[in-house]
Amino acid sequence: MKNEEYYEILAKKLDSAIQGLSKMGSDKISETWMEYLRTLVPTDLIQYMIKLPVFPAVMTIRKFTREIDKTEEKATEILEELFNNDCVMRVGSKKKKYAIHLPLLIFDVPPLSYERYPKEKAEKLARLSIKFLEEEEWYKNFEGSPETPLTRVIPVQESVPIQQNILPYEDVEKIIDDSKLLSLQKCACRMRLEYLGRRKCDYPIESCIGVNQGAKYFIERGHAKEISKDDAKALLKKLNKLGLVHTTENFRKGNHTLICSCCSCCCNLIGGITRYDNPRAVAAANYIATIMNIEECQKCEICVEKCNFDAIRMGEISPNIDQKRCMGCGVCVVNCPNQIIELKRIEREEIYRDVIELGLKVAKETDREIKLF
Ligand code: SF4
Ligand code: SF4
Ligand code: SF4
Repeated sequence: MKNEEYYEILAKKLDSAIQGLSKMGSDKISETWMEYLRTLVPTDLIQYMIKLPVFPAVMTIRKFTREIDKTEEKATEILEELFNNDCVMRVGSKKKKYAIHLPLLIFDVPPLSYERYPKEKAEKLARLSIKFLEEEEWYKNFEGSPETPLTRVIPVQESVPIQQNILPYEDVEKIIDDSKLLSLQKCACRMRLEYLGRRKCDYPIESCIGVNQGAKYFIERGHAKEISKDDAKALLKKLNKLGLVHTTENFRKGNHTLICSCCSCCCNLIGGITRYDNPRAVAAANYIATIMNIEECQKCEICVEKCNFDAIRMGEISPNIDQKRCMGCGVCVVNCPNQIIELKRIEREEIYRDVIELGLKVAKETDREIKLF
């Protein structure tokens, strides 16, 4: 079999995973994506990589050894090389298992390695990924289906009044408290644009928090350092004050892997709402901002300036909040110097049970047959 055929097999495997590669409503995988895979996966490893399943399915070293008909030592060496090239993920501690990254990570992990790749490879990957994301509109796959976003906004705890009901999976501090391992790594979206000289903001690049399995992966791959729960909470508060919006996976049970702190200029999630034409790019939090004591407003317009979703406009006496645009992120609440903005509970978004329920729903709505195991 020729190498080109192996890359086609890999592309088809990725296309049958959550998100897929082909544009929504089409089963054609673009030449841009094909070139991206050829650039990312070394030619001497592609024939072995296609023997692995795509996450969440995983394969043991022993099974992989049988599949490629080599010694266990050689099989381990190949798997580690694929891991070090950001093509596969490694799970488990004593008994290691491997899987091909989901399309989201095939797209979002390489930017964390740009500084380690040869310059030509890094530039090519950055350029190709922006092309299929923006020009070819793959951002729609990245964000979910038109009805069901894969991620959701989550407010910082201090923006929610204590007397209000906040559910554990809607509380960013509870997700941190319940975690076993946390990491701090660079933001892939900002890295990609920075590399291309297109970044417009000066928000911190080191701002993504890996959780549990996500943290383990980023630390082992050398992309992140471990951080304590207290440091993670303090960082999230600081980033929220700067105006960044926290997002996480749109399910309630099981392991969250990432807490992002997103800006409307670089982020491909909330950017779906602010830069592209995808109002359902990310699910809103089940909260909405309200101004409590209008007469105490000093018309400083900090809230107008900080809102990433353009949901606040200055009126005659005080700002007006557009309830349809408000995503309940809490950024205006923590930044109002007079503390007169509050989040109110509003039941408007379903949060899915786990990654499987979410993945199957998105697949059904996008008319895509996906393989989860
Ligand atoms: S989703 Fe947001 S925080 Fe996460 S990598 Fe993209 S911009 Fe950074
Ligand atoms: S008004 Fe804007 S900043 Fe305030 S909670 Fe809503 S989306 Fe967030
Ligand atoms: S930040 Fe607070 S005080 Fe300033 S304009 Fe907004 S509501 Fe008024």
